[in-house]
Amino acid sequence: MQIQYKKKRTLLQNLLLVELAQGMWLTLKRLFSKPITLQYPHEQPVVRRGFRGQHAMVPDPKNGKARCIGCLKCQKVCPSQCIQVRMGKDPETKRRVLEDYTVDALRCIYCGYCAEVCPVNAIILTEVFDYSASTRKELHWDLPHLLANWDSYLQSTGESLETYVNPTWRPRGLPDSSFPALKRLPVDDEWKGLKQVTGRLAKAFHPLNR
Ligand code: SF4
Ligand code: SF4
Repeated sequence: MQIQYKKKRTLLQNLLLVELAQGMWLTLKRLFSKPITLQYPHEQPVVRRGFRGQHAMVPDPKNGKARCIGCLKCQKVCPSQCIQVRMGKDPETKRRVLEDYTVDALRCIYCGYCAEVCPVNAIILTEVFDYSASTRKELHWDLPHLLANWDSYLQSTGESLETYVNPTWRPRGLPDSSFPALKRLPVDDEWKGLKQVTGRLAKAFHPLNR
């Protein structure tokens, strides 16, 4: 890494307080530019597709139980180690079943790796950002809480499994063949190959800007 130092100031620059004037000029310009801060909660931000907010567990539409198959990929990939998956055995069928799934929201850094790596789109991040609690325990979400997060997200936004989960939580720019079946559901062209977009360009594709 190359470190660039500022040129040494001349005596004249020191006397004229050039840098002070530059700073004041910058402040003056900002006085007349459009503010980028919002008067939250009176003003609400536009949350863009793919925003990494509150976690939710997606249920299987057939039985209402969590879709999670207990592969532990999310637990392994989580850099904050805030996911705990507990598997048990069904006494009748003797098959592995999910007993509990917890996310410690206080440790989460909202990287989204868990949602991207999940082969069955079970754990996802919703666009809900304004949640709070008065105790730490309330932000330690267990399985029923995560399933309830999904239900309330659908109710408040009118989203659906088909329109939200796959198009949002499938890594961009990769061919269908590199995904497991549940991640191969149809997505818009801009999520694939050359048409993938990021950063400012992504705004042009957001439904609110169309
Ligand atoms: S978003 Fe990142 S830090 Fe948070 S639970 Fe998922 S993998 Fe862990
Ligand atoms: S990656 Fe998905 S299926 Fe695997 S344990 Fe995590 S939530 Fe369950």
